[in-house]
Amino acid sequence: MDTTALSQLARRMLSSTNGEEVAHLLREGVCHVTGGAEVSIFLWDAPTGRLRPAAPGVKESLQPDPEVTDAAFREAEPITVPHSRGGFITAVPMRVGDRRIGLLALDVSELGPLDPDRLATVILLAEHAATALSSQRAIEETRGQFALLNNVLESITNGIVTIDAERRVVLMNRNAMAMLGAGTPKPRVALADAVPAPVADAVGGLIQEIRDQGFCMERRVTLKSAGGEDLPLAVSLSPLRDPVASNVGFIIVLRDMTASEELERLRHLDELKSQFVANVSHELKTPLTSIKAYTEALIDMVAEEQPKQFLKVIDEESDRLLYLINDLLNVSRIQSGRLKMHLEMTAPGALVQEVLKIARVQSEKHEVVVDVAADLPEMLLDRDKIKEVLINLLSNAVKYSPKGGRVWLRLKKLEGNLQIEVQDEGMGIAPENRSKLFQAFYRVDNSSTYEVSGTGLGLAIVKAIVDHHGGRVWVESEVGHGSTFYALLPIRTEARREEEASLRG
Ligand code: ADP
Repeated sequence: MDTTALSQLARRMLSSTNGEEVAHLLREGVCHVTGGAEVSIFLWDAPTGRLRPAAPGVKESLQPDPEVTDAAFREAEPITVPHSRGGFITAVPMRVGDRRIGLLALDVSELGPLDPDRLATVILLAEHAATALSSQRAIEETRGQFALLNNVLESITNGIVTIDAERRVVLMNRNAMAMLGAGTPKPRVALADAVPAPVADAVGGLIQEIRDQGFCMERRVTLKSAGGEDLPLAVSLSPLRDPVASNVGFIIVLRDMTASEELERLRHLDELKSQFVANVSHELKTPLTSIKAYTEALIDMVAEEQPKQFLKVIDEESDRLLYLINDLLNVSRIQSGRLKMHLEMTAPGALVQEVLKIARVQSEKHEVVVDVAADLPEMLLDRDKIKEVLINLLSNAVKYSPKGGRVWLRLKKLEGNLQIEVQDEGMGIAPENRSKLFQAFYRVDNSSTYEVSGTGLGLAIVKAIVDHHGGRVWVESEVGHGSTFYALLPIRTEARREEEASLRG
């Protein structure tokens, strides 16, 4: 084979993009050099550590034993050995540096050992083939990594734009295009021509910051969407470095802030609302307290029965208003995390007597059956708040059994806990409504509860108070037969450190 033919063949191999073609050219070249000796070509499969035929479907019958293959690779030299099917083969390793690429096996049984010139040509051809195959493999790997990176980039919910050191767009993912209202950017287009001016300006500012101080904060810009709505974006930037750490451009990350701004706005509104409710309730409470005090004084002073009766109605109605205002105050305290406990050693049974005198709990149609266990120890409780729990549960039991019936209040000791149970024979609660009962402002919406007035605050307050005592609440119920509300409170006699601090404070 003359030099021209040899270099032509080498060039074809190196410019090929197909492994099978390279194997074919190598086989052709070697056949030519050897005058038609049989050739088998194998590729090295790194994951399995084995040789496999270079062209699928072609039967390569000259496969050497693994030891021979290993020796050829190790020595980086052709080896001539007897073959298992009879005769001799020459195994020529194909390597690039230390990397095993493949192996060429040549049947030399009839040919005898190759003369040095021809052997050198075969080695040269094998080396060219190895180089061609190795760069093909590298290109495939790069393509695979690029496809993976592209997938990652497109699945990120943020907008990503990369620019080179001259601020020309290298890459823009679909989310960035959607946020910026841009189409696929033209190759190497200037950033200023590819994105809206506020974003380009923000990026300019961020690059300057990085140059001045080595880092930059995020900037906010607001764009107009196609529909004319505001689109708030957070723009951040980080330098893109090549392996030798020189700056070759920047990665721009765009985050759609619509949801978080809306959340911030709602949170702010919610705070305003809680504050408003707290202020109004407080303002209402002061005059109402004096109305109640004067009414009570008048009741004592007036002797005639009818005015006395009227005054009693005013007194009762003021009580109702006061409860409502207290509920509102409590809920706004719960929502803003300002509900404070004042724990003191209390006999739970003693609270029951005080609670039963309260008008909301009394009813002519209902019989309240009280069962307080004799073995209840004194425990740390916030007296007023636990009274509120009992009042809320008992008044609900009365309210939601409009036909009357019995209401049970039981206090018992259960393995280190005080269990409060309030049971009624009223309308009951359907299973699908039970999970929401303890949320503030939630009221079951059906024809029977419709008749009963309320605010949906009582049980939310009950739950918050019980939670603050380290306990839990739940309900068991059967529609049409009644409900039992449970509150389980751990019996504690020693305050935790932070509570002691707040007690002293
Ligand atoms: P309110 O009674 O002011 O509506 P609550 O927070 O005390 O608010 O109760 C929330 C809802 O739970 C009530 O609207 C009612 O539908 C239901 N509920 C509470 N207690 C009972 C009960 N004992 N029986 C039936 N339904 C009840």
